[in-house]
Amino acid sequence: MKRIAVMTSGGDAPGMNAAIRAATLIGRAAGADIVGIERGYRGLLEDAFVPLGAQDVAGILREGGTILGSARCKEFHQRDVRDRAREILARREIDGLIVIGGNGSLTGAMRLADASEVGSGRPLKIAGIPASIDNDLGLTGLSIGVDTAMNTIVEACDKIADTATAHDRTFIVEVMGRDCGYLAMTSAIAVGADLALFPEAGKPESEIVDQIVDTVIAVRTRQQKRARRVIIIKAEGVQMQIDRLKVAVDARLRERQPEAEPSAIETRVTVLGHVVRGGRPSAFDRLLGSRLANVAVRALLAGVSHRMASWMPPVELPEEVGMRSPADPYCWLVDLSAVLVETENLLKGRSPLARWRAGAFDQIEDALLL
Ligand code: ADP
Repeated sequence: MKRIAVMTSGGDAPGMNAAIRAATLIGRAAGADIVGIERGYRGLLEDAFVPLGAQDVAGILREGGTILGSARCKEFHQRDVRDRAREILARREIDGLIVIGGNGSLTGAMRLADASEVGSGRPLKIAGIPASIDNDLGLTGLSIGVDTAMNTIVEACDKIADTATAHDRTFIVEVMGRDCGYLAMTSAIAVGADLALFPEAGKPESEIVDQIVDTVIAVRTRQQKRARRVIIIKAEGVQMQIDRLKVAVDARLRERQPEAEPSAIETRVTVLGHVVRGGRPSAFDRLLGSRLANVAVRALLAGVSHRMASWMPPVELPEEVGMRSPADPYCWLVDLSAVLVETENLLKGRSPLARWRAGAFDQIEDALLL
């Protein structure tokens, strides 16, 4: 393994730079040549290679986003486009590729190195590093970026709670997460919210509206005035658009509390949006990015391919699916195709982990939320 290329692809996540830095420094120390590919698969097709050395990665550990840039590249779904990418990698004499990204990016990597497509072409070894603020990847306890995103949500909600408490207001705060409710569930616990709405619950719109209204009315009857503010965290994956949700909730509240002054019971909405993606990575994400990159680059150097470096998978893994990394007792090397299958199960609510998450949240919700 002489030359390893590193790319970041798909949704950016704080901590990606820590992974780029560690892959560069550890790979170089082991005698490999490390190069970066800018803007994911799009940059690969544009032959956008950059050298990566100690100078290039100096000081990036504390930076959010990714110094290599990221992009989405629809054409990569086409076989002829992937052929072109393989030609470019062969011309650049790339032996191994590390893809730092989410579900889509890791799927792209699998197809790029698919034996039936590679044929008699130059063999390519691949390693994945899970990076997604949504925590929607299977077979890893956490992906890079989740911890920073959680901290950002908690900080924002603490601020919102101050004004909500001062005015006895109800806030619905929407957080990112694509189709996965993990960020909404966990941040609701960390914030001390009164209710969390997440897609895995599979509730119809009318039930969601009733749930919010019941919560607001229950909180408003609390004795202690300072405890009468309501914070509700809504995952973006809950399909009901937030402005429509507000209108429906306000209308139902007016019906249920006709004596109340409408402006006093009106809900406020805040969409945190892309704020959740940015910012300096937390200490944990810096550590996670560095450790997963260490495991990924060492796997490639040892000739292992089609694996994802994983942080303590939350399920028992059969030997053929994953093994503990010899480089780090908290990290695993899991089969990339098994990751993609498990991710699909997780998102469809079919996996034991998806059911466990929702069940564990229900238990905690009963005790800690409203
Ligand atoms: P993420 O990696 O954050 O999940 P995306 O789903 O947007 O982000 O995927 C990033 C990129 O990965 C896509 O723009 C595309 O280039 C590539 N990709 C995704 N799915 C596939 C696929 N099935 N086949 C080939 N390439 C894919």
